[in-house]
Amino acid sequence: MKKEKGQLIVLSGPSGVGKSTVIAELLGQRDNIYFSVSYTTRQPRVGEQDGVNYNFVERPEFERMIAADELLEYAEYVNNYYGTSLKAIQERLDAGVDVLLDIEVQGAAKVRTRCPDALFIFIIPPSFEELSRRLHRRNTDSEDVIAGRLEKAKVEFKEIPSYDYLVINDKVSGAVAEIEAILTAAACRVENRRSILTQFA
Ligand code: 5GP
Repeated sequence: MKKEKGQLIVLSGPSGVGKSTVIAELLGQRDNIYFSVSYTTRQPRVGEQDGVNYNFVERPEFERMIAADELLEYAEYVNNYYGTSLKAIQERLDAGVDVLLDIEVQGAAKVRTRCPDALFIFIIPPSFEELSRRLHRRNTDSEDVIAGRLEKAKVEFKEIPSYDYLVINDKVSGAVAEIEAILTAAACRVENRRSILTQFA
């Protein structure tokens, strides 16, 4: 059944929790869902592709986008800008496609104000020690950067009560199953099934 309007889904969680892996798995399993490729001023990590993981831009270009009001939200995170293109997601939502944002907590707070109907999901590791292990295992950031990301994670955890759902990424398959359940439940909400209701009126 084609939806009149797509569902906006906001997924937040600390750097290193495994969001990218969970998202890749979710996108592989679910149709009609678009992952919003963010803009960022940070350097690509090994294996990351421009236009796939992020749109990598220089600071002046990002600041131009802010000034031109082209971003639904943006935030500065560990000395780099990250932001969501408004146009790219609006077109998909209007076409009935669900849109998934992987954004940090300040950006999510802005989306909560502008799009109160969005679904807000926070993803955590099974423990703080496991988060540290995963960041070290990733082997892409210096010790300083990892320490900054762990400190940032503690600040982010304080925002969890503002979210609708909490998903635990112990095993990727478990986290994906929880998100699938959330999305299925949201699609079954009466307000999302109005079009089918007309024939029962
Ligand atoms: P990373 O550098 O590890 O890829 O991402 C750092 C943080 O930035 C993550 O928490 C990620 O969710 C967040 N992030 C990625 N894209 C965006 C965005 O467009 N807006 C905001 N506010 N945060 C983002």
